[in-house]
Amino acid sequence: MSLGKLFGRSHGAPASAYPVAKSEEQWRCDLPPEAFHVLREHGTERAFTSPLNKEKRKGTFVCAACGQPLFDSATKFESGTGWPSFWQPIDGAVGSTIDRSFFMTRTEIHCSNCGGHLGHAFDDGPPPTGMRYCMNGAAMAFEPAEAGRDAATAPGRAVATFGAGCFWGVEQAFREVDGVLETAVGYAGGRVASPTYEQVCGDDTGHAEVVQVAYDPSRVGYEELLDLFFALHDPTQKDRQGADVGSQYRSVVFVETDAERAAAEAAVARHQARFRRPIVTEIAAARPFWKAEDYHQQYLEKRGMAPCHIR
Ligand SMILES: [Zn+2]
Repeated sequence: MSLGKLFGRSHGAPASAYPVAKSEEQWRCDLPPEAFHVLREHGTERAFTSPLNKEKRKGTFVCAACGQPLFDSATKFESGTGWPSFWQPIDGAVGSTIDRSFFMTRTEIHCSNCGGHLGHAFDDGPPPTGMRYCMNGAAMAFEPAEAGRDAATAPGRAVATFGAGCFWGVEQAFREVDGVLETAVGYAGGRVASPTYEQVCGDDTGHAEVVQVAYDPSRVGYEELLDLFFALHDPTQKDRQGADVGSQYRSVVFVETDAERAAAEAAVARHQARFRRPIVTEIAAARPFWKAEDYHQQYLEKRGMAPCHIR
């Protein structure tokens, strides 16, 4: 008899009941061991071990398995327990089951998107809810607010995110544009928080290789960046660019606002005239951007190599 059965441990609904479903073997492969233990085996990390205990910045705590936003930093409080504690989850982000393990009756909390175990909820929390969501830091990742929208809205600075195949060459090309302040390569649009290059290239996390471009809108317009984006790759190829095959190489524009969406749609119409086949570029709402490993940043520039554009 397994320990789980001995303690009457509930493993919750079957994986297929959640929008993000994977086999336990796949989860084991995708998650660091500590995260796998908590999220998939209902484990509990040792108190005071998670760096998220001390996380005080403005931002969002997301599921480490699927990236779903779970808690706003405004609802975090210091409980003294050694586990990150919150008085309220984001609407619809978590589900609960009754957990009768270890001869106690507790309310178990899991991610509503992937079913991953996060921790427990108790009714001894602070106002306004009186609830204490006692979470495992290993089950979450933190996205600071200043890395996303806040940075984008700083005066004299806007941010655009493009996926146009292998991100090395795309980044190089955007760095040559007058008015571009900064670039970074990373992953966006997938289901896992903080993915690695190996995970993304395994083609099962759903992320695209993207370049995030910070630019000065008074020196270069979003439309001009879109024109370069369409000139850099073949937007009629679905889930590939030349020899690079897989959904991580898909053609995608992540837009932050309705105005950006309209500009991207207009750019598709403008560039369609150059192609016989339809443009398949995806125009998607902005998603968390996960910066790629350092060795991918300015990859070609550091090696003195020329970008290998398709077109
Ligand atoms: Zn999740």
